Amino acid sequence: MSASPTPGPTSPCPTCKAAVAAKAPAFPFCGDRCKQIDLGRWFNESYKVSRPIEQADLDEE
Ligand SMILES: [Zn+2]
Repeated sequence: MSASPTPGPTSPCPTCKAAVAAKAPAFPFCGDRCKQIDLGRWFNESYKVSRPIEQADLDEE
């Protein structure tokens, strides 16, 4: 058995994996910086997925 170093419920920060208290203002993120990083990452993924339609795709026949 190992005692938890931080009392209360915690969850790993999605960005840096640091333990974040459930009552933290930026939960589930450890801070606003990690929140912005995660949002930016999400938008970048969206851009990759929604690539513009290329002419080659339309002429495929
Ligand atoms: Zn973090």
